[in-house]
Amino acid sequence: MAFSSFGLKEFITANLKVMGYEQPTEIQGKAIPEIINKRDAVIESKTGSGKTAAFGIPVVQSVSPDVPAVQYLILVPARELALQVYRELSRLAEGSSVNVTAVYGGSSFSKQVDALKKGAHVVVGTPGRVLDHLKRRTMSVSVVRGLVLDEADKMLSMGFLPEMRLIFQHLPKRHQTIMSSATFPPAIEHLIHSLMHEPVRLSQEDSSRAPAEIEHLYCMTTMQEKDQVLLRFIEKEEPELSIVFCNTKVDVRAVAQFLSGAGIKAVYLSSDLSQAHRERNLSRFRLGLVQVLVCTDLAARGIDVPNVSHVFIYATSEDLETYVHRSGRTGRAGKSGRAISLVSGTDIANFNLALKAHSIKATEVPIPTDEEIIEARVASEHRVLEDIGYAKDADVHDDYLRLAERLTADQAHTLLPFLLEKFLRQGIGEPLDITSGGGAVTEAEQSAAESSSFREPREKKRRDRDRPSRTKTLCVALGRRDGLSPNDLRSTIKKAARLRKDDLMDIQMGEYESTFQINANAVKYVMKANGKFYRQTEILISEA
Ligand code: ADP
Ligand code: MG
Repeated sequence: MAFSSFGLKEFITANLKVMGYEQPTEIQGKAIPEIINKRDAVIESKTGSGKTAAFGIPVVQSVSPDVPAVQYLILVPARELALQVYRELSRLAEGSSVNVTAVYGGSSFSKQVDALKKGAHVVVGTPGRVLDHLKRRTMSVSVVRGLVLDEADKMLSMGFLPEMRLIFQHLPKRHQTIMSSATFPPAIEHLIHSLMHEPVRLSQEDSSRAPAEIEHLYCMTTMQEKDQVLLRFIEKEEPELSIVFCNTKVDVRAVAQFLSGAGIKAVYLSSDLSQAHRERNLSRFRLGLVQVLVCTDLAARGIDVPNVSHVFIYATSEDLETYVHRSGRTGRAGKSGRAISLVSGTDIANFNLALKAHSIKATEVPIPTDEEIIEARVASEHRVLEDIGYAKDADVHDDYLRLAERLTADQAHTLLPFLLEKFLRQGIGEPLDITSGGGAVTEAEQSAAESSSFREPREKKRRDRDRPSRTKTLCVALGRRDGLSPNDLRSTIKKAARLRKDDLMDIQMGEYESTFQINANAVKYVMKANGKFYRQTEILISEA
């Protein structure tokens, strides 16, 4: 099946190309035509299967831009998810006169009022803030054509239901209703019936609710040992990005502090933090500036970060659906991932029930041994050394060359481990700075820590480097107004584009945009940073 078979408006088809969506996912193939036909729909499909676009495409398609009113209301359980869904819909609506707005707590009420006044056709929001706007009459949903509940089972759970009922009172009697989630527990069936009109049920052929790409593991431990065991797994597995789930805010904070204290780059999401701080933490995580995100379930429901390689479940939830949503933060859009549960005496009963409820098979793994951790570190440091591809042609001062030549084999043998230790320990956690010689190790470590996208066959690298280097000037839509220093900008672009040490030069910062020079060979890598985010601002790079 192809997107072209849905008769979508031209701008949507064009935007899908830009977004890299070549074909509809299975659930999108089923849901899009039904929703365009105005049917009420229950979308039940695995985490990471593309449910946002499954309802987002028909919503954007169905808006009448010349009717200046809120036509679709999309409700989600958490602020960060509101922002994420808003961004996906904005990308689908790009270049059209369909206006999408996000309305959620913790961000400026008056700015939201301004955006609503300008005429929003689609509003994505969290219930509390939506209700505020409705009460103050800064938004009307009286002519809404469609209501979408993303993470619908959460939205209809006890925590949200009272607010939801108040919102429903503001909606017109007749409207389309769409519910989307990976799990629809039986307890909400009666609500589905009372709120929807002859809904079509759309699900995937393969009905198991956890994606096959996720490997489910668990480790038996005790409450007291959990911090240490978690640290051991992080050290052994070296996740690219990982999320740690706790049951309580207190644990979230304590675990994040423990990991930071152990030298792991970790941040947390919690309602203790200001909204700006929460968004900053999530963006830093998305950009890969930190490795571990510690959070509770609500904060992470529906959150899509493609490179999450591991989910650690610090404590099992009593709620059986939760396991699916937690483990589903990894294995996104066809990538593989591991979900590792730390199971103590208090967790075991719920853990077994959850696996059984979702027909998931998990494999027991032992606590990583010292030997395994050391081996993992040696392997990764070896990769670091291999990655210092430029060492071969590096400009080493003559006196050091002479010194190296003077070493006997014996001396080299004893000195090398000593020097490696000094070399590899230095600079960890220091800011990226290509002007200081000491920064080199950090850079090398950074690139080793990153995925293989910049690792080309060695031969090719060398050939590229031997050519006289040409540079290109690029322009990025980030500047002082976004609160960056030149160093922040440099590390943001390097991280987002997975660049090597010497590729980024001569940064000129402006208020709103900045330029920099880049090795011509690296332009295609820098362009990969497009569409990623610095805080809330999308990174947009073009040739100057
Ligand atoms: P879900 O809500 O089902 O958990 P999301 O809507 O968050 O899943 O989508 C998961 C990931 O898949 C996102 O990174 C999204 O950009 C990507 N994606 C969605 N639809 C497609 C598609 N048709 N082709 C390629 N990638 C897609
Ligand atoms: Mg989702």
